Amino acid sequence: MRWGLMGAGHGGRGGGLFGIGETIAKTIKDDIGVRFADVAGCEEAKLEITEFVNSLKNSKQYQDLGAKIPKGPLLTGPPGTGKTLLPKAIVGEAGVPFITMNGSEFLEMFVGVGPAWVHDMFAVARKNAPCILFVDEIDAIGQKRGCRHFGGRSERNTLNQLLVEMDGFNSTTNVIVLASTNRPHVLDPALMRPGRFDHQIYTGPPDIKGKSSIFRVHLRPLKLDESLSKDALARKLAALTPGFTGADISNVCNETTLIATHHLNPCVGEKHFEQAIQRVIGGLEKKTQVLQPCEKMMVVYHEAGHEVVGWFLEHADSLLKVSIVPRGKGLSYAQCLPRE
Ligand code: ADP
Repeated sequence: MRWGLMGAGHGGRGGGLFGIGETIAKTIKDDIGVRFADVAGCEEAKLEITEFVNSLKNSKQYQDLGAKIPKGPLLTGPPGTGKTLLPKAIVGEAGVPFITMNGSEFLEMFVGVGPAWVHDMFAVARKNAPCILFVDEIDAIGQKRGCRHFGGRSERNTLNQLLVEMDGFNSTTNVIVLASTNRPHVLDPALMRPGRFDHQIYTGPPDIKGKSSIFRVHLRPLKLDESLSKDALARKLAALTPGFTGADISNVCNETTLIATHHLNPCVGEKHFEQAIQRVIGGLEKKTQVLQPCEKMMVVYHEAGHEVVGWFLEHADSLLKVSIVPRGKGLSYAQCLPRE
């Protein structure tokens, strides 16, 4: 995908007030409603993670053979590839409590309370064992110590506390500690030592087959036009969405239903999917941004220049679509079809 004149947006987050000694980790004991069948396109990761579920379910069997129960893996991969969904699926399958916390939450509020919160989170996990403790975006607290960009003493202390707590868990504690990051290279090597996060599971962007199975998962609840077959549609949409992650696919399916509802259609048709894909790629159409004919001409020449050059280049991907409709992310875009 190539963009003309791109713009970027920023999201913000708010926080609440907590005192030391209170945990801000969320504990979920009810059925989380996610199963392995809801996670598609990352079969190897699912297989590896099943071992951890087995070790949690049959811990006695493992200990009888003298095996040390693995503490837990570090899930790595680009954003939106299922790193948060997988732990939820493990919890759903194992039927155990889920204690979860985002790494950035340790840093957001008051300086210095991070270590206390880490301690409390592990205390809650011990109380709820057997259970799964999940630290999302661990890079927020787990960056290399001594690195120029790593915050102050407070962050170092939070990381030290995390290491101490992980060492305090032995094979009989029956808590699996999972963490996820999309920046494993910035993590302190101490976190990856044996007995801590010594297993890494990578969830990469899905290939065309993976995307097709992820589409099948997200098409399940949709009310489709009767002429559409879910399997054929999933295959077609997978081909039309190069570079999309699971999160993008979920977004497309949701946008599709919103567009169909907006147009008062009783069911979802193929054209709604096309519009949704464009919307996910380019953002909302800017109906109020009217370009002067000479400006439009400039955009057309700009895009055409790219495409003509691409046409003559041997290794450039084939072109699927060029749009000069101004959208949230820019004035024009070209969608190519790389070989997957
Ligand atoms: P991240 O890797 O950033 O943690 P998430 O696990 O939070 O990504 O994924 C966000 C959403 O994208 C999920 O709630 C789910 O709807 C969808 N998704 C991501 N990966 C997959 C997948 N492999 N199969 C099905 N849905 C997925």
